[in-house]
Amino acid sequence: MKNYKLLTPGPLTTTETVKREMMFDHCTWDDDYKAITQDIRRKLLELAHVSEEDYTVILMQGSGTFGVEAVLTSAVGEKDRLLIAANGAYGERMEDIAKHAKLNYMIYNEVYDKVPDAKKVADILDSNPDITHVSMVHSETTSGILNDIQSVARVVKEHGCTMIVDAMSSFGGVDIPVGAWGIDFIISSANKCIQGVPGFSFIIAKRDKLMECEGKARSLSLDLYDQWKTMEKDGKWRFTSPTHVVLAFEQALKELEEEGGIPARNKRYTDNNRLLIKKLAELGVKPYIDAEHQGPIITTFFYPENHTFSFPEMYQYIKDRGYAIYPGKVTEADTFRIGNIGEIYEEDILKVVELIGEYIK
Ligand SMILES: *Cc1c(COP(=O)(O)O)cnc(C)c1O
Repeated sequence: MKNYKLLTPGPLTTTETVKREMMFDHCTWDDDYKAITQDIRRKLLELAHVSEEDYTVILMQGSGTFGVEAVLTSAVGEKDRLLIAANGAYGERMEDIAKHAKLNYMIYNEVYDKVPDAKKVADILDSNPDITHVSMVHSETTSGILNDIQSVARVVKEHGCTMIVDAMSSFGGVDIPVGAWGIDFIISSANKCIQGVPGFSFIIAKRDKLMECEGKARSLSLDLYDQWKTMEKDGKWRFTSPTHVVLAFEQALKELEEEGGIPARNKRYTDNNRLLIKKLAELGVKPYIDAEHQGPIITTFFYPENHTFSFPEMYQYIKDRGYAIYPGKVTEADTFRIGNIGEIYEEDILKVVELIGEYIK
C-alpha cells in the first residue's frame, strides 16, 4: 500500500487502531450508535472543562468550516452585529462566511505575525456599542501563531458580548478552560488534535446562548439549534451522519485519554515543535513567527537563504521518502509549513529535518 506520514495540520496521520474502526458499517438508528454519539458529546464537555448544566455539544456533518458557518449564521441574528478579529486566512474565512450570509459585521485585521490585541478589541467595542458578537481564531493555522483568546474573551465579556472561538487546530492539543475564559461557542473538527479522520465538526456551546439561536439560522442544514434539538433527545443525528468517522472518533478519544489527556498530548506536540524549530535553525531555516507567539501545532518557515530553492522540488524529494509537508500560506513572504500534530514523534521530526538538510545540500 502506498503510504506516507502527514506533516500537515489535519487531516493528519492517525493510528492503525483509529483507521481499523472504519471497517464496520454501523447502523445509524439503533441504540448502540446513539450511545456512541452521546458518549462523544460527554467526553468533549470534559475536555473543555465545562459542565453539562452550563454547556452542551453539537456534532455537525462536514468539515471544520461547516461548524464555523453553522455558529456564525445561527448565532448572529438580524439585529446583531459581529466583530471579527483576524490575523490569517481562517479569520478572513469568517468574513467570507459573514458576507455570504449578509450578516452585519465589521473586521479588525491584524498583520499575520501579530496576535489580535485585546486593548484594540476593547476600543472597537467602546466606539461601536451595537456590536453583539466577537469571533476569532485560536491557533491561526495560516502562520502557526497562537492567539491570546483569554485576554480578548475578557474584554468581550466586560462589554456583555458573545465570544465565538475557532479552535479548529488547537482543541485537544492545547488545554482551553472554555467556561473559565468565558467562551460561548468554541468550534473544532474530527480530523485535528483529537486525531480522528475528516467528516464532522463539533461545537461546544453555552446553553443559554444556544437557546437564543432558535429560529435564527440562515440555512437549513447548518441550523445549529435544530441540529442540537434532535441530537439532544437521544443522540440521533438530524440527517445522515458519517458513521465510519464517528466510530473512528470515539476510538481517537479513547487514545487521547490513554496518552494522558490534553496535557500529555500538548507536551508531545510542543516537544515535536521545539525540536523541529531548533534542528531547522541549525540548517539556517528560520521560523516566521517569533518564539513568544509560536504555537505548538504548525510552523511557518522562510525559504532558506542563499539557495536556489524550489518548494515543489523539495516537497517531491521529501514525499518520495515518506513525509508530506505543506506550502506556505502567508501572503507577504516566501514560506513553507510543517505541521507536527497527529501520530508524529521525535523520530519523524529528526527524519524530516534530515531530508530537508539533504535536499538543501
Ligand atoms: C482546519 C481549519 C479550519 C477548517 O478547515 P476545513 O478545511 O473546513 O476543515 C478552520 N479554521 C482553522 C484555524 C483550521 O485550522
